[in-house]
Amino acid sequence: MASPLRLRSALALVTGAGSGIGRAISVRLAREGAAVAACDLDGAAAQETVRLLGGPGSEEGASRGTHAAFQTDVSEAGAAKCLLEQVQACFSRPPSVVVSCAGITRDEFLFHMSEDDWDKVIAVNLKGVFLVTQAAAQALVSSGCHGSIINISSIIGKVGNVGQTNYAASKAGVIGLTQTIARELGRHGIRCNSVLPGFIATPMTQKMPQKVLDKVIGMIPMGHMGDPEGDVADVVAFLASEDSGYITGASVEVTGMRLVWGGKGQRSGT
Ligand code: NAP
Repeated sequence: MASPLRLRSALALVTGAGSGIGRAISVRLAREGAAVAACDLDGAAAQETVRLLGGPGSEEGASRGTHAAFQTDVSEAGAAKCLLEQVQACFSRPPSVVVSCAGITRDEFLFHMSEDDWDKVIAVNLKGVFLVTQAAAQALVSSGCHGSIINISSIIGKVGNVGQTNYAASKAGVIGLTQTIARELGRHGIRCNSVLPGFIATPMTQKMPQKVLDKVIGMIPMGHMGDPEGDVADVVAFLASEDSGYITGASVEVTGMRLVWGGKGQRSGT
């Protein structure tokens, strides 16, 4: 059972906060007392997340009206720096918790994958994480604050997947980037960890054909897909809090012990 309000003095920036795992993380961090800066490519979806976090008189109550939404394309040059400036102007401090969750898929077999699909996935999933982490770390170091950076990778970054050369490369890159940042920023009191979800029920996995989904679920020893809030957001809240104060550079798998995909020539999502 999580300690109540263990993030009550935290300001959390969450990218990809308008949907799926990013939204679930935003809800969970707010429930533990954090003020949340919810960022998404889709500004209206980020606003909707903020509405879900609750304001005065809402069911969630705990938020105390301290959240805000931001529209940003994390892959755009200069956008992350601008986002951090906006967040600091809004909350008068840099975020002490930074969760890079924005991500996309553009699946295709190697022989048919276009350069554009390769570039787009790397730009959002890897370069976007780099840009947000760099801007956030610069803001933290220059204000002398400690922090916890959490990057959402994927188990696919560790084991690969048919039809996902671009996605697997981007997510493997996030693991390496995170480990390196943990080494560079430890002396500034900034921790950096990655979370590697397996198959989680979100709009991203809803795009998968039912036949493939059924097959994938059959290969998960726990027997079901993960839940964005109950499974992934729990781990992120732990990594965000001081309960994980001596954990940095780690890659935490949240997979229900997913087996390596063995379907011949079949694509399998995240
Ligand atoms: P999702 O429901 O599609 O949410 C991703 C969010 O990121 C969307 O709101 C999307 O906005 C936003 N986004 C996309 N491109 C962006 C950009 N350039 N700048 C800012 N925001 C952007 O997917 P999800 O399943 O929650 O996935 C969240 C993260 O977990 C991703 O990094 C994904 O790779 C990772 N992951 C997911 C699973 C899984 O099984 N679901 C497993 C392993 C890892 P739009 O809707 O406007 O595009």
